[in-house]
Amino acid sequence: MSFAFSTIQELRKQLLAKEVHPKELVESLLDRISSVDSRIKAYNYLHPERALEAAEKADVSLPLGGVPIAVKDLISVRGEPCTCSSRLLEGYIAPYDATVIERLRGAGAILLGRTNMDEFAMGSSTENSAWGVTRNPWDLSRVPGGSSGGSAAAVAAHEAIAALGSDTGGSIRQPAAFCGCVGLKPTYGRVSRYGLTAFASSLDQIGPLTKTVADAALLLEIIAGEDSRDNTCEPEPAPSFSAKLGEEIRGMTLGVPKEYFVSGIDPEVEAAMQKAIAHLEGLGATLREISLPHTSYSIATYYLVATAEASANLARFDGMRYGRRAPGCDDLLETYGRTRDEGFGREVKRRILLGTYSLSSGYYDAYYLRAQKVRMRIREDFLTAFRDCQAIVTPTSPMPAFRLGERTEDPLQMYLADIFTIAVNLAGLCAISVPCGFTQSGLPIGLQIIGPMWKEETVLQVGYAYEQSTNWHTRRPSLGQG
Ligand code: GLN
Repeated sequence: MSFAFSTIQELRKQLLAKEVHPKELVESLLDRISSVDSRIKAYNYLHPERALEAAEKADVSLPLGGVPIAVKDLISVRGEPCTCSSRLLEGYIAPYDATVIERLRGAGAILLGRTNMDEFAMGSSTENSAWGVTRNPWDLSRVPGGSSGGSAAAVAAHEAIAALGSDTGGSIRQPAAFCGCVGLKPTYGRVSRYGLTAFASSLDQIGPLTKTVADAALLLEIIAGEDSRDNTCEPEPAPSFSAKLGEEIRGMTLGVPKEYFVSGIDPEVEAAMQKAIAHLEGLGATLREISLPHTSYSIATYYLVATAEASANLARFDGMRYGRRAPGCDDLLETYGRTRDEGFGREVKRRILLGTYSLSSGYYDAYYLRAQKVRMRIREDFLTAFRDCQAIVTPTSPMPAFRLGERTEDPLQMYLADIFTIAVNLAGLCAISVPCGFTQSGLPIGLQIIGPMWKEETVLQVGYAYEQSTNWHTRRPSLGQG
């Protein structure tokens, strides 16, 4: 059987025991990619020669020595394109490594290639990519979620052992749920954003997409911790996130927010959630209803804060320093205008317009400032809730993967796909999505476990206890076993 189906932990043992050589491992992944990626399109590009060369020299005694990892196409890797799935960044080559890339390399990981995404991470389906859509490995007529859809699909289809994604409002957790893998959004400040193309700087975090909870803990351990180049990053080395894996959750109190079970949830998601709750009770946890009263404001708040920050962050893409420049322009203004008009897709333009509007004089107080105030309320809701529970459980998404094209004409419908993930970013918390069932038609469903700031070890502990006592994570999409 191909090594592509293994987890990081399994491979670590095999690599150390010399049962597999890193080069053989990279080859088996490249084989897998060539047999399935024409159907899925998880990758924007691959660098097989570089990967094979790195595998040749890999030091398997390092924590990720020889393990092939895929990286979302908005994290800088020196000497490689970083397109953010945007035409505007066509031809741009990153001049430096992001901190997370330095750390992956330092731990011996092999970088396989760059995964597809919604342009500049704006979207929930990976349909807003300038390079074409990624398909869900469980049903090729459906989306993989987004914006880290390429990373989730690559992991689910066994085209990578694990991947990095980024999460501003759900972009790691929602695609993980849609594709049946594990996705972890770390606490804001846990992982350096140096080298991550900024979407909304006060919300963005890089995090792992993996096949198991233990792999997520391992990957987070490697990428997390202080970085003098990102002053929003915690000023301390990261703790061991694997330490509490395997500890019982008996006696723990888990909150279930009543506001998350109102109308609009898909009945199969709701049923899977009720079963997951009963299962957690069976493991000895106490589940109690909690209230997050400002939940209904989170989408509106997010779309003010995120678009405002995005309009400022994306101002740098003007054809001067990065990527594509519209040819044949007569003056500077025309160059700016045409470059941005031709380079950005519709959703990105919509966000820039929204953000610019809400920041403009006369509207700032009514929109942006008010959104910041509501953001504080949303945060306080969680602080209050965490007095009575150690973690909160919710569905990751109100529905399973939807069909390609189903929501593209209606931005609001697309925005609603993130209703359960967005508040976590607004409050700066950590959360994980783990597989918790399948619909009748075989689509994965995700369970979200939310923890207080800096309590990744708690969400990992609960996620691990759930995962190890269920077998959802062992199913594979039937793409051919390659
Ligand atoms: N889907 C949300 C958006 O479109 C979140 C995206 C993200 O987390 N990057 O903004």
